[in-house]
Amino acid sequence: MNSFYIIDGHCDTIGLIADHSLDQFRNGKCHITIDGLRSGKVGLQFFAAFVGPKSSHPCLQRGLKLINSYYTMLEAFAGTFIAVLRPDDIDLAVRQGMIGSMLTVEGGDILEGEIVNLQILYRLGVRAMTLTWNHRNEIADGVLENRSKGGLSVFGHEVIREMNQLGMLIDVSHISEEGFYDVIEASSKPIAATHSNAWSVRPHPRNLKDEQITLLADKGGVIGINFYPVFLSDRKAGLYDIIRHIEHIAGLAGIDVIGFGSDFDGIEETPEEVNGPQAFEKIINALLKLNYKEEDVLKIAYKNYTRLLRDVLKN
Ligand SMILES: [Zn+2]
Repeated sequence: MNSFYIIDGHCDTIGLIADHSLDQFRNGKCHITIDGLRSGKVGLQFFAAFVGPKSSHPCLQRGLKLINSYYTMLEAFAGTFIAVLRPDDIDLAVRQGMIGSMLTVEGGDILEGEIVNLQILYRLGVRAMTLTWNHRNEIADGVLENRSKGGLSVFGHEVIREMNQLGMLIDVSHISEEGFYDVIEASSKPIAATHSNAWSVRPHPRNLKDEQITLLADKGGVIGINFYPVFLSDRKAGLYDIIRHIEHIAGLAGIDVIGFGSDFDGIEETPEEVNGPQAFEKIINALLKLNYKEEDVLKIAYKNYTRLLRDVLKN
């Protein structure tokens, strides 16, 4: 196959760095390691600052601590990572044999209801935000707190407008169904579900219904296949469960909507044979063995994500 690289739309590694130490990452104690990224041919890794439920701590403060850990990591591995702030930075990283890193936030709770905080986060290098985690926040309901059927709030609509304007990728993983449909309608740009799977393959509140997948695809967005075994299967999950979700989504909505969103370092277990980014090549080879066209495999590996980032981010 032609030369390729991988874009992985979600991991929680900087949370481990913030709560333990950089040595945790340096010494290979995380799912994501430099060697793993290199042998898995990862060209761009999204690093999420997961702020968590607001009951446990002030969210903005927590988010800033995580963002600080992200930059500590970049400084410590200055010859390894290139921070991606605009689409051209991805090509730059790949051309120079470096790994692109993109800072994202998981949980719009970080805004604490203030739109100015979104602008500040953009200036700090954040280029994507997951609107909610599992619970309700100022923007919308999450998948586990949706009894009131609450979609986007007035503030939520304001956030969508501002993210469109700034050139920040909107991530709908974790949001309630009502919130999802509101975002599809409100956003002038394509969106991502950076780490979500197909409900029809594995019925779980975190997975997307067929109608959601179709709408997201029609809008030109990307769904990153999540490797968390619980979202993949109701039995012991392995590499072929990742393929099953890809197969379903491809059959339903086409190849152009599929990407990866491993959730490494945010999940307590990994599927058999897929214990870190070094396993990406196995997934690619499995797709080629199933007679997926080379061009389609390249789309899943990185081309769908680069198309989306070109559509959304400013250069
Ligand atoms: Zn998540």
